[in-house]
Amino acid sequence: MHSEYDIIIVGGGAAGIGAARRLAANGASALLLEASSRLGGRAFTQDLGGYPLDLGCEWLHSGDRNAWVGIAETSGFPVDRSDPPWAQAHPGIARNEEDEQAARAAFGDWEERLRPVARGSDRASDALEPGGAWNAYVRAIAGFMSGVGPEKISAADYLAYDDASTGRNWHLPLGYGTLVAASLPSSTSLRLATPADRIDLTADGVAVTTRTGTVRAGAAILTVSTAVLAGDAIRLPSGVDPWREAAADLPLGRNEKLFLEIGRDTAFEPDSHAYGNLRDPRSAAYSIRPNGWPVIEAFLGGDGARIVEEEGPAAGFAHVSAELATLFGTDVASAVRPLAATSWSRLASIGGAYSCALPGKSQARARLARPFEDRLFFAGEATHPFDFTTAHGAHDSGQRAADEAMAALGRRCVLGQVSYPAVAGARAAR
Ligand SMILES: Cc1cc2nc3c(=O)[nH]c(=O)nc-3n(C[C@H](O)[C@H](O)[C@H](O)COP(=O)(O)OP(=O)(O)OC[C@H]3O[C@@H](n4cnc5c(N)ncnc54)[C@H](O)[C@@H]3O)c2cc1C
Repeated sequence: MHSEYDIIIVGGGAAGIGAARRLAANGASALLLEASSRLGGRAFTQDLGGYPLDLGCEWLHSGDRNAWVGIAETSGFPVDRSDPPWAQAHPGIARNEEDEQAARAAFGDWEERLRPVARGSDRASDALEPGGAWNAYVRAIAGFMSGVGPEKISAADYLAYDDASTGRNWHLPLGYGTLVAASLPSSTSLRLATPADRIDLTADGVAVTTRTGTVRAGAAILTVSTAVLAGDAIRLPSGVDPWREAAADLPLGRNEKLFLEIGRDTAFEPDSHAYGNLRDPRSAAYSIRPNGWPVIEAFLGGDGARIVEEEGPAAGFAHVSAELATLFGTDVASAVRPLAATSWSRLASIGGAYSCALPGKSQARARLARPFEDRLFFAGEATHPFDFTTAHGAHDSGQRAADEAMAALGRRCVLGQVSYPAVAGARAAR
């Protein structure tokens, strides 16, 4: 049976686009199937009130070794390398600096205690100080980072990310989602609003079935989130069950953002930051007037994000409005109004924020990243060994999977089993 493409990519987020870029650079033909009506996945910049706000990824973490920085610069997207706003507390709000220092120190101590825990139970909650005064703060920050409480965090997994991070957090004023969505090579065939329903192995590759028909290729790269992969939305060959189990060991945590518009002139300081309540694990972190815009962005993780997921956006806005009133005074209620709320956890094609290995399951990332039968290749943030949870980790995983898929096709060409002209040509040209 004739293959229409060298490789089919399932999912048009940072990983799928990273894969497409590598394939295009090597002359391999690719079709990208994306379930939703837009590219980017968890990278999504939306024009809200005239401002390009990032509903998903926003920060170029480890900016000094982040592939999206180079892509931005060659594509003419400005990169802001100044310190992130969380380095600058909003002046004049009700704060207790001694408490803040104590809470930060308690978080640092918890991170240190994760090392012996990683060699034992691997359950990050075992590194909490029993009855510790700042455990609520530790839970909230762990929720920002991992989207879940410490009971569901593998200490080894947490440390793998933390140890590899360079701590440089840069920014894209036009939006991270804008950049990712603009980065699909023009040579990649794209079908939006076309979910892959089923993938079968064939004698010479794969057959991917969508509601508009079946497409054949030499290999497929699957980049969907672990929530989608562990679920039943895509029918896969039965031998893929161990990959589904690996995905289930890397569930997506909860992280949501609420945006408020500042409606009248107030003393909100641009590009500053505030933290809601050091003693509430559901507390939000506030980015005040990012880029000088009249907007407040509230970031919720773990227990805080569950408010939005389980009780809805109105409950989320009530929660953050109460925190803002405590910080800035009750006048704030008439100065801001709800602008938008995310619902990543409720989105069927994503199903959460980012992956976090369950205790004892940090090896699941390597298990998930393995190829299946030299036909099916796996990418996506969850497959990266240490830059998981990020858009640059997703990008790099896509490039790794593209290399693996091209190598597999090349091997089959050499064996004379099949002929993929684009791949064979690209190999000859190198
Ligand atoms: C609130 C929030 C804040 C974040 N902040 C940051 C940050 O500051 N910095 C950072 O680096 N990262 C951040 N992240 C994480 C980052 O956005 C993700 O790690 C990254 O974008 C994941 O990319 P991906 O390609 O692996 O997956 P996805 O973006 O999920 O892409 C997978 C794609 O597959 C599609 N799909 C699903 N099912 C099918 C199907 N059956 N057929 C075809 N397509 C399908 C989906 O629609 C989706 O587009 C944040 C995420 C969230 C939610």
